[in-house]
Amino acid sequence: MSKNGIRSQAIYQITNRDLIPAKAPQRLEDMWATNVFNLTKMQASLPKTVFKSLKETITNGQPLDPSVADAVATAMKDWATSKGALYYAHVFYPMTNSTAEKHDGFISVQSDGNVISEFSGKVLVQGEPDGSSFPNGGLRDTFEARGYTAWDVTSPAYIMETDNGSTLCIPTVFVSWTGEALDKKVPLLRSIDAMDRAANRVLKLLGHQDIARVNSSCGAEQEYFLVDANFVGSRPDLLLAGRTLFGKAPAKGQEFDDHYFGAIPNRVQVFMQDVEETLYKLGIPAKTRHNEVAPGQFEIAPFFEAANVASDHQQLIMTVLRHTAKKHGFVCLLHEKPFAGINGSGKHVNWSIGNATQGNLLDPGDSPHENAQFLLFCGAVIRGVHQYGPLMRAAIATASNDHRLGANEAPPAIMSVYLGTQLEEVFEQIKTGSVSNSKAKDVMDLGVDILPKLTKDAGDRNRTSPFAFTGNRFEFRAVGSSQSVSGPLIVLNTMLADSLDWVADRLESELGKGVDQHQAILVVLKEIMNQHGAVVFGGNGYSPEWHRTAVEDRGLLNLPTTADALPHLRQAYVQELFTRTGVLSPVELESRYEVYSEQYILSVEVEAKLVVDMAKTLIYPASVEYLSKLSNTIATLSGLGIDFEKESAKKVAGLTTDLKQSTDQLCEALEKEGFASTADHMLYCAKTLLPLMNQVRTAADALEAEVGDEFWPLPKYQEMLFIK
Ligand code: ADP
Ligand code: MG
Repeated sequence: MSKNGIRSQAIYQITNRDLIPAKAPQRLEDMWATNVFNLTKMQASLPKTVFKSLKETITNGQPLDPSVADAVATAMKDWATSKGALYYAHVFYPMTNSTAEKHDGFISVQSDGNVISEFSGKVLVQGEPDGSSFPNGGLRDTFEARGYTAWDVTSPAYIMETDNGSTLCIPTVFVSWTGEALDKKVPLLRSIDAMDRAANRVLKLLGHQDIARVNSSCGAEQEYFLVDANFVGSRPDLLLAGRTLFGKAPAKGQEFDDHYFGAIPNRVQVFMQDVEETLYKLGIPAKTRHNEVAPGQFEIAPFFEAANVASDHQQLIMTVLRHTAKKHGFVCLLHEKPFAGINGSGKHVNWSIGNATQGNLLDPGDSPHENAQFLLFCGAVIRGVHQYGPLMRAAIATASNDHRLGANEAPPAIMSVYLGTQLEEVFEQIKTGSVSNSKAKDVMDLGVDILPKLTKDAGDRNRTSPFAFTGNRFEFRAVGSSQSVSGPLIVLNTMLADSLDWVADRLESELGKGVDQHQAILVVLKEIMNQHGAVVFGGNGYSPEWHRTAVEDRGLLNLPTTADALPHLRQAYVQELFTRTGVLSPVELESRYEVYSEQYILSVEVEAKLVVDMAKTLIYPASVEYLSKLSNTIATLSGLGIDFEKESAKKVAGLTTDLKQSTDQLCEALEKEGFASTADHMLYCAKTLLPLMNQVRTAADALEAEVGDEFWPLPKYQEMLFIK
């Protein structure tokens, strides 16, 4: 079979596949949370006192009372086994953006040889996964490699149904025996605590008496690509790296905008409904679905939830998307940039903070008093982004997200805040003094006048900003599609905790002088705008002008690659931030730097090896084969006395030589060892390996435009993007 035979067979299989019929729709109420051991089910199955104690724990984030653990475990097991589960798993979230789990049977062999199913409180509360294979950045020496997992009571247990059976899953934290956080959940919980403490201080100073725990909320919009599994099977790059390392731009790309908000293709719609059914059963409030800008690209967004639960649910959404795609003959690509020249995928993290007594603290509210409080919290966010912008950049730094940031379809790698025209004006006026605490009517009187209604102007959709205020929340738009949302949420909560503490200190000092509350708020806000106003930017973030002024005039940092961004994790002010707020100890922070750097280096090197491999064993042979056919034809014709054009052969020969030479160069570059530091190694990946990989790709993509279709071994962009 010719090379192309594999491709045409794939196309044949796709176009002749049996369609998976859509399932009969079920009532939402009948599906909702049937696979979750939630409060309702706990209440129904637990003694009153046990339930009361557990509920306390869940709402106040207290540790679980050991005396109730056995009763909870038995009820949980009975519920799980009634739903067909024979196994349970402590699910945890290592530093790698993945979800990890270790399965254990409920089986317990008795002395008489009979078996019973058993699940004790001790096992529920604490597990011991063999997590030694997870990168820990030097936090655990291998001789004490074991960490333990402990149930995060604030996130409910659930049943994961797969074709291979059902498993009871228990969301857990993952810690070393010496107490260091080995995962992304522990610091997230700590960051919420820190933010709660600081917000509490501010609210008290604003005169509130009754203040419930302040939590952060998150609603994450997930973009993804679907490609038929038949194509992926013959693309080693998609299979192993999740993105195409080669591929010529198709004649038709996304320039017609005919995919965005167009009708969802039937096969995809059936897939989406299947995903949603699974999510509803898991108590995940899937809310919107639509086509995205690029062909083959889609989006799913759930309704927002408490950050901790939202983060667990986001991990589940990624898992369910991948699993369900397989069932439907697709591969779901969560990579930020699977196709060069085609829009990449992000994950917009919508983030707010609030509580049961004061509501959403990032909502302007309707009264002058609420407005003033809102401006203060909003100001705290502005200060945070200005102080810790490089940390925000580091929190979204991965090899894959680097391909997307600043690529003129995604926000730049410069962190700034977009407020919308009206709110920006208000802050500008605070700075210049035309908002005041005076009764003079030519100015807005804070605490008396009402903020102008913040209408959602067209600019609210400013897609060029990495971090935008959208009415009652901030939207961190630069987060990558394959990332865990925990990292960004940890940074947002922590920097806000720090800012709110600063605000509280300043308010205390102003109020101590006897000034009234609104005057004090004004003074603090003015100070924020004077020191940090440079981070507020409402213009076009894609423009070269912004890239220049942001850096030259405003002193903001442009950190285009992960190699530029991650070293900021080691800066003293970042270390102090995490220590002061109690979110990460210096050792824990250093371990994260090590793990993230290692992940970056590994992914670039794996891709570089793949480039060499594919160039040598697939693209070079195909080009040579075609060249040989061309030159044979020329020779034969010339033997017959016919003078045939030789330009095509010359061109293919030239490009094939380029391909070979650049591949050899890359191969050689890969040999380099003995870097002075991890940072140096990262820079080498960014500045040497990636450009060499691109050089190989340039030759290969040019060859794709020349080599006869039947010789070309790799499924082409137009096939992967348009055939469903
Ligand atoms: P967009 O206009 O960006 O498409 P949507 O209205 O679809 O926004 O919402 C995007 C996400 O923001 C959803 O997950 C939504 O639930 C979430 N969201 C809405 N309000 C808040 C809030 N106050 N805090 C956090 N997330 C929120
Ligand atoms: Mg959005």
